[in-house]
Amino acid sequence: MKHDSIDRDAPVPSWQAGLDLTDDGHADLATEIMNIMEQGILVWSQDGICELHNTRIFDVLEIDGDDLSIGTERDEFRDKALSHGQISNEDREKSDARIKAHQPYSFDLVLPSGRVVLSSARPARGGGYVVTFTDVSEARRVARDLANAKITAEMAESRAKDVLATERARQEEAKMLGNLDEWLQSCKSLDELFMIVTKFMDKLIPGSAGELYVYSNSRDVLDGMCAWPADQLHDHIAPDSCWALRRGRAYEYDAQGMCFPCDHAKSDDAPMVDTYICVPIVAHGDTVGLLHIRFDRAPGQGGHVRDSGAFAVRCGEHISMAIANVKLRDELHDQSIRDPLTGLYNRRYFMDAMRREISICDRKKRSFGLVSFDADKFKNFNDNHGHDAGDMVLRAIGEKLRDVMSDGEVCCRIGGEEFAVLVPKADLARAVELAEMLRETIAATQVRYHDGPLPRVTISAGVSAFPTSGMTPQALLKRADEALYRAKEAGRNTVCRADAPPAKGVARRK
Ligand code: GH3
Ligand code: MG
Ligand code: MG
Repeated sequence: MKHDSIDRDAPVPSWQAGLDLTDDGHADLATEIMNIMEQGILVWSQDGICELHNTRIFDVLEIDGDDLSIGTERDEFRDKALSHGQISNEDREKSDARIKAHQPYSFDLVLPSGRVVLSSARPARGGGYVVTFTDVSEARRVARDLANAKITAEMAESRAKDVLATERARQEEAKMLGNLDEWLQSCKSLDELFMIVTKFMDKLIPGSAGELYVYSNSRDVLDGMCAWPADQLHDHIAPDSCWALRRGRAYEYDAQGMCFPCDHAKSDDAPMVDTYICVPIVAHGDTVGLLHIRFDRAPGQGGHVRDSGAFAVRCGEHISMAIANVKLRDELHDQSIRDPLTGLYNRRYFMDAMRREISICDRKKRSFGLVSFDADKFKNFNDNHGHDAGDMVLRAIGEKLRDVMSDGEVCCRIGGEEFAVLVPKADLARAVELAEMLRETIAATQVRYHDGPLPRVTISAGVSAFPTSGMTPQALLKRADEALYRAKEAGRNTVCRADAPPAKGVARRK
């Protein structure tokens, strides 16, 4: 082992300016200074021979005198260092190139213990190099930790940005849907609801087009109720032409994926779109319709949450809820104005309808007729055939009434076996004609019960008219009932008019 770091007999190299190593005092001082330094120090001559090193270098580089001594060649030293895996080939090639150009070079050595040593060489006068070896393990660890911390911070920042963007989009979506809901909830009718959907959808899903379909009463087709843009409404589609209706859940079609287009989405007039979504409209557990939305780009590709298929499904849910509410309101309203046995309007609705008609006819100086009729000897009928058979007859009277009267006429079951009809735009004579037709029709009606025919039931009717018979609903009804009473008196199965005396002639009996 050769640990002498300074060869005092060696010729003094030119870089030793200001230090006379032939002087024992200077040489001892230089040796002491170099040996107490934290760094390893090594001097290569121009020919790459070790001219000088301190003792600290052995600890710093974890080597011993076999690896390095005065006179050791640089290549031999570096081969040994390399065999310890301390210097990378890349660093070696780079430093060789720098040495050739007599330029400074530096690189990190990773020692077998894992410590990192910075080798930093500076050219010395005369063509040699002074190399310092500094333990930078801690500095490198701190730098590495800092770099990792920076990456972690950047990732956290990017995640926070994503969360913020998602939250903003969610808030915007909630705001839009809240706005839609507010409008939908204040709809009084399905027509209003369809109008709002038409206006909203284009704003909710920019660049989209679509239609809303509702099942017809027969449920064999879905009728187109509204569309955006408004001119693209299809009359109707068949339920089995839509994958969403067949599968009972939303269906997202993307031409690029493994999907098949719905038949209703193919059109002879327009090119097939690449992406669309069909959302079944479900109200109170029943599928009542279909929301079909076409996108002018793949859902979500517009960089906007509202372009997404999921958002379209949520729109469908909100529209479903609104349709369910309007239908429920309609049903409740219907129940409040209709008689459950016959489906005809009830007395309350009839009185309101008369009030409305009086106000219209008053303004327009027009007349209308009122027919009040009652089943003859119905108590007997019930007694002979049972209450259920009586109900069948009352239902049959309701059906005949609907058959005989046109849409504008308001047919009502006033109560029990008593009925009334409001005949718009009719004078007394016209109303009597209608009452007569009704009397004949009912008298000819045969109702079957338990496979057997029931005896035919007749009615007696009294007819009044606005304004000649009276000016209020109560007065008109009273005059009609008086006439009805006369019809009963006259033998039943008879029509009597309000302006006639209680005698034969005006009444026609069959
Ligand atoms: P009139 O020719 O004078 O009108 O004789 P009527 O027996 O029809 O008249 P009345 O007022 O004495 O009896 C009415 C009958 O109508 C009694 C009742 O049992 C029957 N009725 C009333 N409401 C219903 C109903 O909802 N179902 C059935 N089956 N019968 C009813
Ligand atoms: Mg009766
Ligand atoms: Mg009666």
